[in-house]
Amino acid sequence: MNVTVLGAGTMGHGIAQVSAMAGHSVTMRDIERDIVEDGLESIAENLQGGVERDKVTEDEKTATLDRISGTTDLPDAVSDADLVVEAVPEDVELKKETFSEVEAHAPEEAVIASNTSSLPVTEIVAALSDSGRGIGLHFFNPVHIMGLVEVVVGEQTSDETRKFAEEFVADIGKTAVTVRDSPGFASSRLGVSLGVEAMRMVEEGVASPRDIDASMELGYNHPMGPIELGDVVGLDVRLDILEHLREELGERFRPPQILRRKVRAGKLGKKTGEGFYVWEDGEIVATSGDWGDDE
Ligand code: NAD
Repeated sequence: MNVTVLGAGTMGHGIAQVSAMAGHSVTMRDIERDIVEDGLESIAENLQGGVERDKVTEDEKTATLDRISGTTDLPDAVSDADLVVEAVPEDVELKKETFSEVEAHAPEEAVIASNTSSLPVTEIVAALSDSGRGIGLHFFNPVHIMGLVEVVVGEQTSDETRKFAEEFVADIGKTAVTVRDSPGFASSRLGVSLGVEAMRMVEEGVASPRDIDASMELGYNHPMGPIELGDVVGLDVRLDILEHLREELGERFRPPQILRRKVRAGKLGKKTGEGFYVWEDGEIVATSGDWGDDE
């Protein structure tokens, strides 16, 4: 199958890599040649890492790279596509423009998918005159490691398009969950619910961040507790998602004051060195604030 990926950034190059590893012929398009080259280089480095860890053979690496080409020319990139996946920045107007530009140049039967993590798929797909062939394919970062893809079905998405998307996800060795287009889809809505309740528990003094995280890690086998995960994702990102979900779904997603205070203070988590935890060289070294230095 011919797969075209629009955007060679964090997600775009990952989607191109996993598609090519599954044997598809891939074209990756970005707006500038340098960005395309960087994306291709990231894929090569990733595959080389796989070779060093014995996850990928030298032959698989070479064959995968041979199946990927890069371009800045959109009409050319999509002209033979069976599937186009856009991974351009999270801006609804840009996504809509991208969808209609793709439709003007892609074959009539091509499926056109958006990797949006939070925008309404129904609105993006509405930019197509044949909106039945539009859908959401929400990959997770890092794409070559994460096993899940949410297949997000817009109001107009046809059954044929949904089946095509589910089969593609299975074909690239991932697990599809099918979700009707709604705010936060399945994963963010549930993940954020747990995170917001955990923050309220810290605020109410129910338990320390470390003990709340341990209760999920050891009691529920989560690889990382909800407070630590918030620090890793970024508390500013968490706050934005909560504001959006509160607007769409109601007060149960109201951001707690403790989160607003941390964001105002620039304590955004791992990336700034402090959030609910204190971080050094990418590792937790202490708990922030009143919970003291209990590490
Ligand atoms: P990114 O900034 O790393 O990459 C976006 C790329 O799109 C950039 O290289 C940019 O040059 C390029 N671009 C801009 N306009 C373009 C255009 N018109 N055509 C083609 N390329 C264009 O962003 P990202 O993190 O890869 O995110 C891309 C999408 O994936 C967003 O919708 C985001 O919400 C979603 N997403 C991100 C994550 C994540 O963890 N980063 C996870 C799931 C989904």
